[in-house]
Amino acid sequence: MFDPWQLLLVVSAIAIGWLLGRKPKIEANDVPAVRHHQYYKGLNFLLNDQPDGALDTFIEALEVNSETLETHIAIGNLMRRKGEVERAIRIHQNLLSRPSLSRVHLHQAHLELARDFISAGLWDRAEGLLLDLIKDAPELKAVAMRHLLEIYQDEKEWQQAIDTAKQLLPKRYLLKASPPVDASINDALAHYCCELAELALQKKDFHSTRNYLKQALSYDRSCVRASLLAAEVEYRTGHLPKAIQNLRKVWGQDPVFIPETVPLLKACYQKLDDDQAFQNDLKQALDICPSVTTLLALVELIKSKQGDLAATEFLGKALAERPSLRGLAKFVELHIDNSGGRARENFSILQLLIEQLLEAKPQYQCQHCGFAGKHLHWLCPGCKHWGQVKAIRGAEGD
Ligand SMILES: [Zn+2]
Repeated sequence: MFDPWQLLLVVSAIAIGWLLGRKPKIEANDVPAVRHHQYYKGLNFLLNDQPDGALDTFIEALEVNSETLETHIAIGNLMRRKGEVERAIRIHQNLLSRPSLSRVHLHQAHLELARDFISAGLWDRAEGLLLDLIKDAPELKAVAMRHLLEIYQDEKEWQQAIDTAKQLLPKRYLLKASPPVDASINDALAHYCCELAELALQKKDFHSTRNYLKQALSYDRSCVRASLLAAEVEYRTGHLPKAIQNLRKVWGQDPVFIPETVPLLKACYQKLDDDQAFQNDLKQALDICPSVTTLLALVELIKSKQGDLAATEFLGKALAERPSLRGLAKFVELHIDNSGGRARENFSILQLLIEQLLEAKPQYQCQHCGFAGKHLHWLCPGCKHWGQVKAIRGAEGD
């Protein structure tokens, strides 16, 4: 396949050739001769399959002005995308050293340099450039703030992220007069508050935790994470009915997250010593959203109250309606416990095979980019979107 950046080099070579052919009409006679020399030198590098040398020569030869600025920026961006950040920085810094460029063009080069620094992980330098841009270039304010947000998010500077994201909200939204335009900013704000809530919870500062969670829900009423954390706070402070209330709130916010509520729901009902209420909740949860996690919690409960036979019978019927690998693993486990001799050995082999199959399967997937993994990430490691990673559903999932 033809490498796109080599294509750009060839196009650049043609463009430079055209420019060099045109320039002698307006410039001193000796300058084009030097440029022609650089052009042929660059072409020679390209023909000898030395694209790096060719690129440097072409950049040197290509005068920086309003006509060639886009080409310089495009080549710099291409370098960044290829992972050659140092070279991208050099190209964009070269532009900033040209006072002949207009204010708008200088700001454009400024922004690209900030993007190079972000790619290189030089967050402090990128932050400085972006703050300058926000002050001096109103036309690039929104895009600069988005990048600033990326930096604060990566640095886990949650309060600074909140302060920046709030400025991206429409002003009328802050007065609660109109709905938000960009939902992703509200989602992010809710999660930033949840991050601060988690830190406060670690310090057992329950008052601050509750305040941050209240703020999170004010930005996004359907923030499942905030309700799960609120349930955790109430559980830890001994307010069990309130904890259950928050967990049940998740059911309405996004039923796909119902399985995430099951472990704490179980802990609450165990403390309340109310198996019947737990069983009722599990049945109701299954009606709202069929899930292997919820089903297996119910099977465990039936097993403890009515014995293995009742649990096996219940699970067998459930699996016939909605087959699942994890359900099958439990079904086999129940049979191992209640069989002997050759049959027990065979069930054990079957259990091992199912476990190996499950080991290879991811349990969560991002709805936005498809990133898949074993754990629930609130911030997708693939696309950096918040709240998009959810349990995989179906026979091989939940
Ligand atoms: Zn993603």
